Amino acid sequence: MNQPADLRLATVPAWINGKPLATAGRAGDVFNPATGQVTKRVCFSDSAFIDSAVKVAAAAFPAWRDTPPLRRARVMQEFLALLKKNQKALAQIVSDEHGKILDDAMGSVQRGIEVVEFACGIPHLLKGEFSENVGTQVDTHTIRQPVGVCAGITPFNFPVMVPLWMFPMSIACGNTFILKPSEKVPSAAIRMAELFKEAGLPDGVFNVVHGDKVAVEALLLHEGIKAISFVGSTPIAKYIYETAAKAGKRVQALGGAKNHAVVLPDADLEFAADALIGAAYGSAGERCMAVSAVVAVGAAGDPLVKLLEKKAKAIKLGVDMGPLVTEQHLGKVKSFIDKGVQEGARLVVDAREQKTPKEGFYLGTSLFDHVTPSMEVYRNEIFGPVLVVLRASSLEEAIGIVNNNPYANGTAIFTESGGAARRFQNEVQVGMVGVNVPIPVPVAFYSFGGWKSSLFGDLHVHGVESVKFYTRTKVVTTRWPHQDTPAPGLNMPTLG
Ligand code: NAD
Repeated sequence: MNQPADLRLATVPAWINGKPLATAGRAGDVFNPATGQVTKRVCFSDSAFIDSAVKVAAAAFPAWRDTPPLRRARVMQEFLALLKKNQKALAQIVSDEHGKILDDAMGSVQRGIEVVEFACGIPHLLKGEFSENVGTQVDTHTIRQPVGVCAGITPFNFPVMVPLWMFPMSIACGNTFILKPSEKVPSAAIRMAELFKEAGLPDGVFNVVHGDKVAVEALLLHEGIKAISFVGSTPIAKYIYETAAKAGKRVQALGGAKNHAVVLPDADLEFAADALIGAAYGSAGERCMAVSAVVAVGAAGDPLVKLLEKKAKAIKLGVDMGPLVTEQHLGKVKSFIDKGVQEGARLVVDAREQKTPKEGFYLGTSLFDHVTPSMEVYRNEIFGPVLVVLRASSLEEAIGIVNNNPYANGTAIFTESGGAARRFQNEVQVGMVGVNVPIPVPVAFYSFGGWKSSLFGDLHVHGVESVKFYTRTKVVTTRWPHQDTPAPGLNMPTLG
């Protein structure tokens, strides 16, 4: 039985039809990774609950679809203002449940807010095409229409930013939405739902459900849902893509990553090392765009590793870098450090020797040198503060290493040579490329997405590609006959 919930209680409810709703039945623990303590419980949704959420979203769809885009944009503007006003409070929720330090959390919330800024321009983005006189007295135009009820399934590492990649654009396009955030970080989604309601969003347009694979499967198979956006690990992304596509939905499923930075000998090595340290260890390496593999070319290798060693050892736990998300994940990352040593990589900085706070899921920094492409520490996404360095003798060899990796989310090159950078961006088979930019996350008015095992589907998130994902186009051909109009015949009409 479902009961109205009180958000002040330490149970995170669902959000259905503009109200919090606690579900009976299965629930999960929510931790503060900095203390290792359970701070809340979160209600899990079963398939019957998901069905009721889809019915609510479907009932809200016709009126929202028919709301003029300009009015939808005004709700977005109010939401934008409320997000800005509550940015610090949202960042604090992110920090409390994910573990990243507050300044880092603030930056991630900012990147999400920028998608809402972009969504405010929806009237312009929904404009169609028009061609006058495509045939005698015949005009053609295109219109973009929302697809219906959409769902988003998101990972633990960006509790505000990744959901904001999805639902504002979907809703601005005229769809209604059901978000299932990671059960490890459920509270920020509920706070955003409250703010969206306060901004004037009609009840039922945005809903939040919680849970694990039971809830996800119910969303994937529900025939009332027309489009699924997913961000998470590669095996689950592949499963989501295959299952939802088979159920007739459009799907964009973004997966995991092993992002390489290639450093050429002509690069400013001090600048490159600073950039790599931030990109590797920021957010404890729990970023899908974290640099986790450096390919040092030729003479760059030894001095670069020395700089990385010094800077990695200087990172202060709890000040520069927070804990990992769970004890289980901490154990997994530690086991990769053991594995790298067994495989014969040179462990230059060893987290196992560093002091950690007594409480919480903290782990210091690790740096491996002389890693080869066959090693497990290279082949797997570790998703923790572990950076591996491979050596290459030329740019060509470095590009080959990057292109042979199955992941292809982001990559970067550090060089002073425009020619080398141009060759790299042209030949590398990766979705997002940085030139002297370590984490090339595109701004909201461009689209975000990787290639190969880092994205299943065709269209990336936010930017113009998200408008294409969340709408269907119709082409309308019009003739207003008068006395001179030739009568239509039996032959294939050519309109000319
Ligand atoms: P995850 O794949 O474990 O979980 C993601 C979502 O899927 C969660 O909502 C979770 O509840 C659900 N889920 C988990 N197991 C499931 C199962 N068996 N069946 C159905 N649903 C399931 O990912 P995570 O650990 O939360 O997040 C980290 C991963 O996300 C990393 O691999 C990271 O690279 C990736 N990520 C990718 C991007 C990107 O843009 N490509 C962005 C952020 C994170």
